[in-house]
Amino acid sequence: MTRAPESTDVFVVGGGPAGLATALAARRKGLTVTLSDSAVPPVDKACGEGIMPDGLDAARGLGLDLSAAAGHAFSGIRFRDAAASVQAAFPRGEGRGVRRIELHGLMVKAAMEAGINLLWGTHVAGISSSGVRIEDRQVCAQWIVGADGSNSQVRRWAGLDAAHGESRRYGFRRHYRVADPGDFMEIHWGERGQLYITPVAPDEICVVLISRSQKLRLSDVLPEFPEVQERLAGAEPLNLERGGVTATRRLRAVTRGNVALVGDASGSVDAITGDGLCLLFQQSIALADCLESGSLQGYQAAHRRIGRRPEFMSRLMLLLDGRSRLRRGTIRVLEFEPRLFARLLALHVGESFL
Ligand SMILES: Cc1cc2nc3c(=O)[nH]c(=O)nc-3n(C[C@H](O)[C@H](O)[C@H](O)COP(=O)(O)OP(=O)(O)OC[C@H]3O[C@@H](n4cnc5c(N)ncnc54)[C@H](O)[C@@H]3O)c2cc1C
Repeated sequence: MTRAPESTDVFVVGGGPAGLATALAARRKGLTVTLSDSAVPPVDKACGEGIMPDGLDAARGLGLDLSAAAGHAFSGIRFRDAAASVQAAFPRGEGRGVRRIELHGLMVKAAMEAGINLLWGTHVAGISSSGVRIEDRQVCAQWIVGADGSNSQVRRWAGLDAAHGESRRYGFRRHYRVADPGDFMEIHWGERGQLYITPVAPDEICVVLISRSQKLRLSDVLPEFPEVQERLAGAEPLNLERGGVTATRRLRAVTRGNVALVGDASGSVDAITGDGLCLLFQQSIALADCLESGSLQGYQAAHRRIGRRPEFMSRLMLLLDGRSRLRRGTIRVLEFEPRLFARLLALHVGESFL
């Protein structure tokens, strides 16, 4: 393991996608960066593993060409329920399904090549205005970035926990080997939740159940999705189900003093949007601009601007969750008016504006 330095320009707490993206962005600005994570790679996590075209663009801004990563392209989104189905292609570019473990490995490699000090298996135990405490020592840091995920301790330590309201849902993910993964990201709407399916390899899909119940598992709901059930009947499961919480949370503030939050630590939209990774790539670029300028002042406004559209889309999509008649009616109308669905998708990926 790399030894912790005495001091660093930027200390990033958390080495998930948000921490690695911020570390890369700050390093590209010439800052010295140290990142620590309690876990040791390969780090996996329950995720739908779909990255929208605007997310791929943002990743490119960090020097990451995810379209060349092992994975599978998808050309748009399909909604489906028991009675109707509608799909639209992205107005520009493609999305990509990339296994989480693949994405993490690729980002770790880029961070190593960029000269970022990576401290794996190193838990951050506290922060102060002068730096962070890891194990039995202190590392001095000009800036501290909390990229420590949804249950962020940095957020708590910095007194940034106040939110404008919060709700939670639960996701369970499993990979399957299939003959044809399809070339759309699919969202299947049911009475008790949604199944979303992302092609992640030429012979593999990632299936996620998202619901308001902590107890529901894929096998419980599959009979409610006969088309998916049939597709998975002959498919080989490649792992066990992995669960995670998806929170809808908007914080009142994402900076205090020399501390800034990024990724899920800084608030999040429901996983149904498939926007988490895109958001954190964009946030990390905005944050690095502020770190370079020597002031965090602009980050709050940039963070708000970046989050506005995904938050709106998340609210819109969650309107359909648990409201059978509204959901059935909406998908049926969209089936008859696919151009409306295409316009909503264009809005979702930032190609048109409200
Ligand atoms: C079910 C589900 C499906 C999803 N589907 C999609 C999708 O299809 N597309 C998409 O774009 N997004 C999706 N998301 C959202 C996306 O997964 C998250 O936005 C993303 O993982 C957030 O990354 P992060 O780096 O902020 O947090 P995390 O990935 O949670 O990383 C936080 C890291 O911080 C470390 N850490 C925590 N505390 C400390 C400490 N004190 N010291 C050191 N290290 C610490 C942890 O070990 C962890 O590695 C989904 C989420 C869920 C739950």
